[in-house]
Amino acid sequence: MSVFVSGANGFIALHIVSDLLKLGYKVIGSVRSQEKADQLHRQFKNPNLSVVIVENISNPGAFDELFLKYGKDIKVVLHTASPFHYNTENCERDLLNPAVNGTRNILESIKRYAFDSVERVVITSSDAAVTSFKDDTNPNNLLTEDSWNKISWEEATRGPEEAYYGAKTFAERAAHDFWKENQDKVKFKLSTVNPVWVFGPQLFDENALGEVNTSCQYIKAIIDSKMGEKLDMDIVGGYVDVRDVSKAHMVAFQKEESIGRRLVLCAGRFTLLNIADVLCESFPQLAGKIASGNPDESFKRLNSLAKFDYTNTNKILDFDFIPFEKTICDTAAQMLKMEKRQ
Ligand code: NDP
Repeated sequence: MSVFVSGANGFIALHIVSDLLKLGYKVIGSVRSQEKADQLHRQFKNPNLSVVIVENISNPGAFDELFLKYGKDIKVVLHTASPFHYNTENCERDLLNPAVNGTRNILESIKRYAFDSVERVVITSSDAAVTSFKDDTNPNNLLTEDSWNKISWEEATRGPEEAYYGAKTFAERAAHDFWKENQDKVKFKLSTVNPVWVFGPQLFDENALGEVNTSCQYIKAIIDSKMGEKLDMDIVGGYVDVRDVSKAHMVAFQKEESIGRRLVLCAGRFTLLNIADVLCESFPQLAGKIASGNPDESFKRLNSLAKFDYTNTNKILDFDFIPFEKTICDTAAQMLKMEKRQ
């Protein structure tokens, strides 16, 4: 039996693939090109990993060939592929449609070709599907696993950031709706993993060179900043380590308690000043040389955030999250090593 991971070369997915292989699973991963497939084979060097090409998850029938060929062998599907960037002038084409159509397409292909073999499906959703930025920065709000971002499609087309929130919200909704509507037609049980901002080291050192994935790029930008520059105090939210996000995906398909659940992962709250402070304390070569911010403003921002209670998730996970300092240090140490700035 195999586990299928879509977007297998992504920041989070690489950790997932690595954990699956360590646990002895056979893994089929999808990437967008032969070049990326070759890179995965070179990086993992593991005969239990097969790589297939799905050029664009948004295309109708994008996953058909894959499930037609391997569907009978696939018991678990981890759908991580989804655009996470703000680099677009066409929000529907580049963010909303791939996220939503990609999710529908993979579920449709399972229904068509692997309805009786796939037992568990995990969608990598986001806290963007749990709350809007506005609701997350309202101290009177209490967020739980039952909270939903109430964004409309129209609001989601107003700009790339809104589009990312909308993409994750509508994609996750599509998955729940599909599962409800097809209970008698598919065998699989659905779970979602909804992380807040994910930081942590790249699985492979070489991936820490140059521009990195969207969330870790915020840490890289601080490392590369200059004294006198000001940190963006509007960047505030929750953090969780990529190694914990990967572990949560294992829990999402391995435990019965995860069925039908949204596992919302949040280890704590941060501002960019909190990141800069850890960097200055831990890396003498950065102390006093990078961007800074006002500590009172940072404190005020943290105190203006919504409360959250993800006790149900934490009970199911049954492990402690990696602390903020370790996450930030491990992320930065790898970047500095690769840039030969140790
Ligand atoms: P990455 O950008 O590293 O990975 C995204 C993956 O999706 C890549 O493999 C990418 O392929 C693939 N992908 C994107 N669009 C398409 C498309 N149209 N067709 C085929 N493949 C596509 O991001 P992360 O690892 O950070 O994110 C993984 C998942 O986790 C996403 O669903 C994201 O929304 C979610 N998430 C991430 C958070 C974070 O802070 N990092 C927080 C919460 C949720 P390629 O490399 O070729 O572009």
